[in-house]
Amino acid sequence: MIAIVDGELCIGCGQCEELCPEVFEIDGERAHVITDEVPEEAMDSCYEAVESCPVDAIILEEDE
Ligand code: SF4
Repeated sequence: MIAIVDGELCIGCGQCEELCPEVFEIDGERAHVITDEVPEEAMDSCYEAVESCPVDAIILEEDE
């Protein structure tokens, strides 16, 4: 699974980094993804981050 942050939507609230720092990091005013693939052990917190994002800026996709 890979995570993508839509930089057009992200408002840099920091929620995703707080919930799942293994995958998300705030860089300036936006979050970005710091892993190629979401680590297995971070999947639950990553889903939480997706659900908690106030602007639905996080997308999860199956990697191929
Ligand atoms: S939770 Fe959403 S809006 Fe907040 S920093 Fe993360 S991606 Fe951006």
